[in-house]
Amino acid sequence: MLDNNLSRGAASPRVNGSRLWSRLMTMAEIGATTQGGCNRQALTDGDLAGRDLLSRWAEAAGCRVRVDAVGNLFLRRAGRDDRLPVVMTGSHLDTQPTGGKFDGVYGVLAGLEVIESLNDAGVVTRHPIEIGVWCNEEGCRFPMAMMGSAVWADRLPLDIAYALTDRAGLSVRAELERLGVDTHARMSRQAVKAAFEVHIEQGPVLEQRGKTIGVVTGVQHMSRHEVIVEGQEAHAGPTPMDMRRDPIRVLAEVLPALYACARERGPDARLTIGIIETSPGSPNTVPGRLRFTVDVRHPDVRVYDLLRLEIDRLVRAALQHQGLDGSVRCVWEAPGVTFDAACVDAVRSAAVELGYDMMDMVSGAGHDSCNVAAVVPTAMIFVPCAGGLSHNEAESALPADLESGANVLLGAMLALAVAVV
Ligand SMILES: [Zn+2]
Repeated sequence: MLDNNLSRGAASPRVNGSRLWSRLMTMAEIGATTQGGCNRQALTDGDLAGRDLLSRWAEAAGCRVRVDAVGNLFLRRAGRDDRLPVVMTGSHLDTQPTGGKFDGVYGVLAGLEVIESLNDAGVVTRHPIEIGVWCNEEGCRFPMAMMGSAVWADRLPLDIAYALTDRAGLSVRAELERLGVDTHARMSRQAVKAAFEVHIEQGPVLEQRGKTIGVVTGVQHMSRHEVIVEGQEAHAGPTPMDMRRDPIRVLAEVLPALYACARERGPDARLTIGIIETSPGSPNTVPGRLRFTVDVRHPDVRVYDLLRLEIDRLVRAALQHQGLDGSVRCVWEAPGVTFDAACVDAVRSAAVELGYDMMDMVSGAGHDSCNVAAVVPTAMIFVPCAGGLSHNEAESALPADLESGANVLLGAMLALAVAVV
């Protein structure tokens, strides 16, 4: 290609790993917790301070800063032909109440590091480059994970996002206005050629397999199911076992069957019983009611559908067998995502060129990229995190791995944004 000087001998630019690390540590001071983590929940003063710090860094790097009506922050480095669609990257700066230093923040600061490195190397790209900082990814303060990216991608009406409230009754709209966001601005989506997100894996696979880079080909299918079993409250002493209507018998029968069902579907099947509640919750009363949840995930839609059917079948069979009334229903579902083949290839090629150990993988968690992928070609890059821990103050990652992931991001973005100088 005539206009790509970099491919004709000049060394490809590399990120500055120590600058990236030092910015991660500086950002982590905002909302720092005593256990070494971060509490920077969406639209709090801490979130605002983090966004302001990032905006100052980005402006110093020559970026234009813009905030949309739902509080997504965009940092844009101009392209040679600035009317062309942007090549985008991004993630989130908000954290869980007891979150870590890297979840989301890494993807944002790796994006800034890409821009800084292009500046350092004097590289001009044909397409503009933009970082998206998605508002309220975590969904802990306002109960809607990946909120900002969902509104941006037209998957969630703005009014529904605005009406979400936190435990104190404060709405997203009121908090956005308090932080100076213009909620009357028109929501409009810029043209995007391709989008990438680099993120810590939030699971143990890369670390255990000794790989530096996960080439993320998609996000698995996931849903949550609620099971209710009706029993009859009775005294724990005088009521003989065979004369009780004890809902826990259904749990006792269904749990081994559920675990066996997940085991039979192989290592990609994920089944989690996260909540088990009895009512009235007294040690000497047979519960009158049992509620438990089943979270099920699998990357292959056929196996995922089978697992869902099996959950229904096993619960109904146990209810019938125990002669108790109850129900099982799906309360939340996020269909899986297959990332864009060309974007995934750009990630893989960049990792090959850099000589990193890598593997293809499917994300077990949801990310803003699930929403972004609904409207523009998208792919993700994972790097290992210590022990697979995330949503935890002890969340940790190695500077060298973070640098490698940012280099892959730089390589993939540059392939799409096309260096002209
Ligand atoms: Zn995240």
